[in-house]
Amino acid sequence: MNQTILGLHKRATVVDAHIDTLLDIMVPPARPAKFPTPRKFGERSTKGHVDLPRLLEGGVDLQVFAAYIQPEYKIERALHRVIRLIDLFHQTVSMHQDKLSLFTKVADVYEAKKRGKIAAMLSIEGGEAVEADLGILRMLHRLGVRAMTLTWNERNQIADGAAEGRTKGGLTNFGVELVSEMNKIGMVIDVSHISDAGFFDVIETSNAPIIASHSNCRALCNHRRNMTDEMIHRLAQKDGVMGMNFAPAFVDENKGKVTLERVLDHVDHVVKLVGADHVGLGSDFDGIESTPKGLEDVTTMPYFTEGLVKRGYREADVFKIVGGNFLRVFKKVIG
Ligand SMILES: [Zn+2]
Repeated sequence: MNQTILGLHKRATVVDAHIDTLLDIMVPPARPAKFPTPRKFGERSTKGHVDLPRLLEGGVDLQVFAAYIQPEYKIERALHRVIRLIDLFHQTVSMHQDKLSLFTKVADVYEAKKRGKIAAMLSIEGGEAVEADLGILRMLHRLGVRAMTLTWNERNQIADGAAEGRTKGGLTNFGVELVSEMNKIGMVIDVSHISDAGFFDVIETSNAPIIASHSNCRALCNHRRNMTDEMIHRLAQKDGVMGMNFAPAFVDENKGKVTLERVLDHVDHVVKLVGADHVGLGSDFDGIESTPKGLEDVTTMPYFTEGLVKRGYREADVFKIVGGNFLRVFKKVIG
């Protein structure tokens, strides 16, 4: 790798808005036997995509860790499960406090970077964790949760997920209340995985910018988890950001075309539609079973930056895309 580009990558404040690594390090194993788990977060592995040594090598400055509620914990055990994942997150941060620090506000990221540490932000993937109670939402915020994906693919008490398209359903009445409360307490609303109708309901309801932490462009890869051009326009009008997802199924319908360059085509598409202020990174590492060629694990992040430079993006835009855009929204919503 070209040293000038590596230097630029190191100077940038790099944000990855979505990984599922918590499930890979959970004891007892949280995943079926085909996954090589549990791994130790502090030890470099050739399995999975993210661990502390590789995260440091990849130059990520703010890593968002998703607490994903697996289907077997829905609906009744969702809160119990999320508390276990939050405990694991905090244990991981304190076990590695020489290299990790807890994110509660954006200033923490710059402070961590100055000390050679990575800021770790906690996000919930699946609003069923709130069990339809705003008091629980507020307490989860106090436990450090700073973003929440309102649904996964199926329906919950908040909204319909992306796999419920037949119903054309969006936010429930409770979902509308929850969006307002998230605005009030400063928790980022994440619309990845929500139904299309749910997306537009959130756009109408939220008075703060929203994110799609790990979603690509439907114009380039026709998948319900990706965003239509109209959705991208509305997200941008709201000053939101979408994180580019490396899951092959969301990158290209043709498996042979799933490469770093194709991920960069998604970046180009967003920039062409709405400019360079609304796109970022949301790798979905450790939530996906295979990766694009050239983006095999978190150590390849500098190649994403290199790809942007090679495509002619000026330095200021590269900085925005690899992290500045998410930081702008987090600053606005969280502080
Ligand atoms: Zn996801």
